[in-house]
Amino acid sequence: MTTAISLFTRDLRVHDNPVLHHAARAANVVPLFVLDEAVLSGAFGSPNRVSFLLDSLADLNRSLESRGGRLVIRRGDPVAEVCQLVSETGAEEVHVARDVSGYAQKREDRLRLELSARHCVLHVHEAVITTQPPGAVVPSGNDHFAVFTPYFRRWCEQQTRAVLPAPDVLRVPEVQGRPLPGRRALCDGEVSPRVLRGGESEGRERMREWSAATVCEYVHAHDDLAADATSRLSPYLHFGCVSSTELVVNAGPSEGEQAFVRQLAWRDFHHQVLAARPASSERDYRTRHDQWREDPGALHAWQRGSTGYPIVDAGMRQLQAEGWMHNRARLITASFLTKTLYLDWRLGAAHFLDLLVDGDIANNNLNWQWVAGTGTDTRPNRVLNPVRQAGRYDPGGDYVRFHVPELADLPTEQLLDPDRLQPTERRRRGYPAPIVDLAEARERFMSARGRG
Ligand SMILES: Cc1cc2nc3c(=O)[nH]c(=O)nc-3n(C[C@H](O)[C@H](O)[C@H](O)COP(=O)(O)OP(=O)(O)OC[C@H]3O[C@@H](n4cnc5c(N)ncnc54)[C@H](O)[C@@H]3O)c2cc1C
Repeated sequence: MTTAISLFTRDLRVHDNPVLHHAARAANVVPLFVLDEAVLSGAFGSPNRVSFLLDSLADLNRSLESRGGRLVIRRGDPVAEVCQLVSETGAEEVHVARDVSGYAQKREDRLRLELSARHCVLHVHEAVITTQPPGAVVPSGNDHFAVFTPYFRRWCEQQTRAVLPAPDVLRVPEVQGRPLPGRRALCDGEVSPRVLRGGESEGRERMREWSAATVCEYVHAHDDLAADATSRLSPYLHFGCVSSTELVVNAGPSEGEQAFVRQLAWRDFHHQVLAARPASSERDYRTRHDQWREDPGALHAWQRGSTGYPIVDAGMRQLQAEGWMHNRARLITASFLTKTLYLDWRLGAAHFLDLLVDGDIANNNLNWQWVAGTGTDTRPNRVLNPVRQAGRYDPGGDYVRFHVPELADLPTEQLLDPDRLQPTERRRRGYPAPIVDLAEARERFMSARGRG
């Protein structure tokens, strides 16, 4: 009788999960999740993500129970816990998903070493977290693509693996696990008031609704801030509650569906950059020799959503309230921090990671680098003007009205352009004056980048 351990990481689902699917072929399977102290005590243990994680684990346990199994929870170092479980159960195989961060790559190396000493085989499954595995789509003579458009061309030509069914029945041997702890046992701080509920069941429901109704509008409306017409699947993708492969395989040929698939390819793109260059989580991917300014007051105003630029403040307040921000607002707020205020992208990335329920190193830090011009953007010195962006992507002002209620009853042109708002009126409403002059800021940035 063979026993296999199915080690869940960022693949918290039973449908289309190669890790669980292959482990479940053994006579006995131990579905295991380790609450990793190193991850939870660092930047990743933020209240929004921990809350989403706990929802997802509870949901996964229910799904496993309905198949005769259950989720074994342990806490500590995942490698030590897996080894311990191997000795307790005599497991001959461990299955896990390939992941891309430096931390995940080291975890995989450590697992391989420790398990081989115990004559236990490690099976690392590709295309669990992304649709195309990092390293599968590469240009000749390099280990990754540094520009999205040629990457996407090749990505589209690639075969996608078949979608796997959820296992029908699981046989789990008698092993000790811990009960799922409450959130406060894992992290301090408050959860954002409107954060999404985690779990595969929620994710699949959202995926079904999205595919049935909204995706058709996507091509026209994905940048319209007030329309809120994106899928909001990002946290479910981050924790693997839904499978990007399933989304890609099930997408039809319509413009909306194909535009959506292109965004999923962006996700794969950033993952393959991080897999090849793990240090780009912290270091400039392409240095522009920036001497970033230090200005704690401006940083704080940006974080609080009180820069005096309503579109920027709306985005930052959406982040606080929902643990999520619309992609267009992420672009505007990130450009404002790195180019208009000329503050280090790492400060912005860290603040986003504190709050984003979908926050991950590949998508967050490499998108921050993309916006800052130190990453893979082929136009690294473009600066987004927040007044023009507001006019274009929130022309009716409804996104600002919703997130900056003290300005809600103003005429639209005053909402979009703070120069049109009288100082007395601004003061009466307790709304700040702009913390920076856009023309001067642009000049400062261009001359810092040697283009002044
Ligand atoms: C500064 C900045 C930081 C970001 N941080 C994160 C992050 O931590 N986690 C994260 O998942 N996304 C991040 N993004 C990318 C993007 O903003 C979000 O994926 C998107 O807003 C999530 O909403 P959605 O699921 O409704 O997206 P949709 O528009 O419905 O897109 C579908 C999926 O495609 C993927 N996707 C879309 N756009 C991108 C992109 N530019 N890069 C990578 N994947 C993308 C996401 O998985 C998303 O769920 C960031 C973007 C910027 C500019």
